[in-house]
Amino acid sequence: MSSPGNNILFPRIALIGAGLIGSSLARLFRRDGLTDHIAVSARTQGTLDKIQELGLADSVSLDAVEAVTDADLVILCVPVRAYAAIAEAIGPALKSGAIVTDVGSCKQSVIDDVRPHLPEGVHLVPGHPVAGTEHSGPEAGFAELFEGRWAILTPEADTDNAAIEAVAELWRRAGSFVEIMEARHHDQVLAITSHLPQLVAYTIVDTATGLEDHLQGEVVKFSAGGFRDFTRLAASDPIMWRDVCLSNKEAILDILGRFTEDLTAIQRAIRRGEADKLEETFTRTRAIRSGVIDAKQD
Ligand code: NAP
Repeated sequence: MSSPGNNILFPRIALIGAGLIGSSLARLFRRDGLTDHIAVSARTQGTLDKIQELGLADSVSLDAVEAVTDADLVILCVPVRAYAAIAEAIGPALKSGAIVTDVGSCKQSVIDDVRPHLPEGVHLVPGHPVAGTEHSGPEAGFAELFEGRWAILTPEADTDNAAIEAVAELWRRAGSFVEIMEARHHDQVLAITSHLPQLVAYTIVDTATGLEDHLQGEVVKFSAGGFRDFTRLAASDPIMWRDVCLSNKEAILDILGRFTEDLTAIQRAIRRGEADKLEETFTRTRAIRSGVIDAKQD
């Protein structure tokens, strides 16, 4: 672990996936000298070439097994439904004492999909940086992405404390605040704070694309009225979000149920001309915005 003048947190790390999040981590490890060796694996040669061109890896391979061999820390940075097959492949190649973590947007599925494939003596510390942009790929990353954001870790109760602390320290070095919580709780919280807004954005933009041609043109022209903020969210990677929806199905269906009830209540209030009810709702929601700004998460 680190000592004065030596920033190395993990002698050798393996990044599986090198898009927005994976390449941001690679940049962070490089910038701050947090490792001696960054091994990167991705699905396509084009991504690996780009990573090398950017100087973000010491070795690259299309074979995840090759990348994780001898790694002290393995970070899965791929869409969550790809985890199970990758874990099955790399499990036997992991060295004793290695830590496996990830950055996926939902957490119980990570425990269900990855843990069964890890040998005794390998530690699983699932993680989620609550930070991102709508951009994808190795060129989209930047080392400062995680600064001032939360990194949530969801280890199981029997996880080695030193492994949890090592992953927590990595996120603190990234400039994040670290919170530890139970995986299912994470999934419920993120269903409301991240997954629901994303689905609302996809739906609003999809509703607009279903409009007749003459209205569609006007939608883009006058998008500053609010629509454009939803287009930013709706431009996010479709595979990533497909996987999040299917992997956090229960919590998302629960929150979508509540949301559609509340939306129907607004619809009824408008139809009935219930001014007080509308004003009351819109006033209540303003307080949440102040809370977000106070927490420096705007
Ligand atoms: P991204 O930019 O699209 O990059 C995905 C990476 O995963 C690429 O390097 C891709 O390789 C690789 N990959 C995709 N499918 C694969 C497969 N089946 N097997 C092996 N590698 C595969 O995605 P990202 O935004 O970095 O997201 C990665 C993870 O971070 C996801 O689990 C997501 O839930 C989580 N996350 C994202 C955000 C965000 O705002 N984007 C925020 C927090 C957490 P190729 O390029 O070679 O195809």
